[in-house]
Order: sequence, then C-alpha cells, then structure tokens
Amino acid sequence: MKKLEMVYEGKAKKVFKTDDQELFIVDYKDDATAFNGLKKGTITGKGVINNKLSNHIMKLIEKEGIPTHFVEELSDRETLVKKVSIVPLEVIVRNIAAGSFSKHYGVEEGKVFKEPVVEFSYKNDALGDPLLNTRHALALEIASREEIDTIIDYALRINEIMKSFWKECNITLVDFKIEFGRTSDGTIILADEISPDTCRLWDSTTGEKLDKDRFRRDLGGVEEAYAEVMKRVLSHD
Ligand code: ADP
Ligand code: UDP
Repeated sequence: MKKLEMVYEGKAKKVFKTDDQELFIVDYKDDATAFNGLKKGTITGKGVINNKLSNHIMKLIEKEGIPTHFVEELSDRETLVKKVSIVPLEVIVRNIAAGSFSKHYGVEEGKVFKEPVVEFSYKNDALGDPLLNTRHALALEIASREEIDTIIDYALRINEIMKSFWKECNITLVDFKIEFGRTSDGTIILADEISPDTCRLWDSTTGEKLDKDRFRRDLGGVEEAYAEVMKRVLSHD
C-alpha cells in the first residue's frame, strides 16, 4: 500500500491518501489539545498507544457486528482505514455525569445514570461544537432520519461492548465520543478513534482518572495514565 499526499492534518492525527481510492492511512501524533485547541501540549508516546488501543477496540466492535473503518495496523502509529465522508456529529455517550454535562446541568461528577445518555454536538470548530438534537441535525441536513437512528443504535451497542471490555481491565467507562462516516456506497460505519483522548476512563477501585482529563485539568502523570491503560489492555488478552 503506497502512502500518498496528506489530505488533512488534525489536532491528533494526520490523514493520507493511498493508491487505493477507497482507503486512507491515519498517522497518530503525540500532540494534545483541549478546550477547542486553546490548550496545546505533547503527551509522549500517546500516538502509539492511541493507535494500538483504537484498533484493538474497533476489532472488538466489528466482531459484534458493527461496521468500522479499521482495515490493518501498518506500524506503531499508522493504520489503514476505509475512507469515509465524516458525518459532522460528535456522538457522545455518557454513563456517569462528568465534564460538560456536570457543568451544563449542575450535576456532581460521578452521578451514575439509570440509562445512558446519547448526545450530539455539531462537529464545527468555528462554532465551538454546539450541542444539538436530532431535529436540529435533520434541519441542518447533517444526516437522514434513518442514518440518525442507525447512529444512535450503534452508539448504544458500542457503549455496552466497551463497558464490559473496560470492566475486565478494572476500568469504569464514564463517557466517550465517537464519529461515524459514510463509505462510497453510503453505508454508515464507525470512524475516527476510540482512545483515552476520546473516553473518560476511571480506575474502578480508586476512581483515579486514566484519560485526557489529566492533561485538560493539569493533574500530572499524563503519560503514566496512558501507559497504564495500555498495560491493562495488553495483559487482558
Ligand atoms: P480533528 O479534526 O478534530 O483535529 P484529528 O486530529 O483526530 O481530529 O484528525 C483526524 C480527522 O480525520 C478528523 O477530522 C476525523 O473526523 C477524520 N477521519 C477519521 N477517520 C476517517 C476516515 N476513515 N475517513 C476520513 N476521515 C476520517
Ligand atoms: N470528547 C472528545 N472530543 C471532543 C469533546 C469531547 O473526545 O471534542 C470526549 C471527552 O473525552 C469525553 C466525552 O467526549 O470522554 C464527553 O466530553 P464532554 O462533553 O464532557 O466535554 P469536555 O468536558 O471534554 O469539554
């Protein structure tokens, strides 16, 4: 597979064309950002860890019958994926109150929900990724009703798969963000990444934060937390 020109450089990954029209290569960086790019830094080793973790989880999800963009891990930082046109929705699933949910609704971090919450943000950095509901998404013609139903169904199933996977690593899945895309034939598949950058992961025994909140909130031990998550996933196999 030939790696051709870069099509996009994002905050955490670079995306490259390949000699196959239907495939891209994603290259994971150590760069970290928070608060819509206002806070910038480096988390040494993050790219390698996120590449491997995301691929591991995508494979689990695929095995459960949900289509993903994962094709093949090419190197420590590079993965071959199916090219999609990204649906500009950040799909967030929450099991426990934290972050912006706690802030918006005045709920203490750590409150366990009876049912998971599914929420959408409009993936649009210039507008600051505003929250929106299904009818906003329909009005903005971001996706069809059928596509939104599929996305919600997949998001809730992915939550169940991930909750039990992380539990086996003695980690509580608090919340996460995922993105979906359309392949050339219009099929909705899971894309982007699933990693400690995009999930809140708390140690089930101590409650210690093992995710990007350590960077966002200047808690220290950022590299160590990512390495700990990787270690637990590897020893789980
Ligand atoms: P951001 O754009 O938020 O800075 P990244 O640094 O992670 O994020 O950049 C990766 C970009 O590639 C994201 O915009 C993401 O939506 C997009 N992307 C992820 N997977 C695919 C895929 N399979 N096909 C096309 N684009 C993808
Ligand atoms: N998230 C993400 N990218 C974003 C915004 C949120 O990956 O641009 C993830 C975040 O890591 C957390 C979940 O989505 O696991 C919910 O984040 P929240 O809305 O609480 O926002 P935050 O507190 O990160 O601003």
